[in-house]
Amino acid sequence: MTSPPPPHAAPVLELSGIVKEYPGTPPLRVLHGIDLTIEAGELLAVVGPSGSGKSTLLALLGSLDRPTSGRLRFEGRDLAGLSDPELAALRAHRIGFVFQQFFLMPGLTTVENVATGLLYGGAPVSERRARAAEALRSVGLGHRLGHRADQLSGGEKQRVAIARALIGRPALLLADEPTGALDSVSGTAVVELLRTLNADGTTVVVITHDRELAASFPRRIGIHDGRVEFDVRVPQPAGAVR
Ligand code: ADP
Ligand code: MG
Repeated sequence: MTSPPPPHAAPVLELSGIVKEYPGTPPLRVLHGIDLTIEAGELLAVVGPSGSGKSTLLALLGSLDRPTSGRLRFEGRDLAGLSDPELAALRAHRIGFVFQQFFLMPGLTTVENVATGLLYGGAPVSERRARAAEALRSVGLGHRLGHRADQLSGGEKQRVAIARALIGRPALLLADEPTGALDSVSGTAVVELLRTLNADGTTVVVITHDRELAASFPRRIGIHDGRVEFDVRVPQPAGAVR
């Protein structure tokens, strides 16, 4: 997994005055000037009502989309200066994504699904498959390597999606409602997995509707109508595994 950040490393993300509008007449302003800093190694929850702009914000954090205005730095680099191919390379090497709907290819095996996470780098197929198997073992699915994605339970599907997100060894994992389609037992297992990844050094940002889950995270950011409504750090019990 990712090594712990060096001391005094630049924050993973620094947002200042981020505004996002979707085109239309008039344009729809969804984010109204977000200021936010996320340090390497953080585990944070983003909460807020449906339609408040959480997924829009996550897409910007992951450089899947560009802000209308404002400045966004990733590990100290201003993303406005990067071309689309440069952003794609950044995503492939530094950022993993997990979504509520898994987005697996149903007819492919777990190994094939996870290996797609390495397509960008042009690694040979044997190496992609070996790393996919390793990533699947790391999420507890070593016994499902030959299964097709459509033969898995929801919780297993989400763990495959997490393995796919991890195969490039990202510094930052962004998860949009990762437990939203899961029963509570599977959801708990997925959250435990995210915590383990964080303890190994990955910065993890989770959008969630689950208040109990959010309350268990060391930092919570509330979004309301496209603004940061609160940003709280919860003191963690001494010795607790984050
Ligand atoms: P959340 O994830 O908090 O539910 P979203 O970020 O998905 O909120 O959406 C915020 C607002 O932006 C909503 O009003 C939604 O309809 C609108 N929106 C989201 N994506 C688009 C888009 N691609 N084009 C136009 N409007 C959008
Ligand atoms: Mg959303």
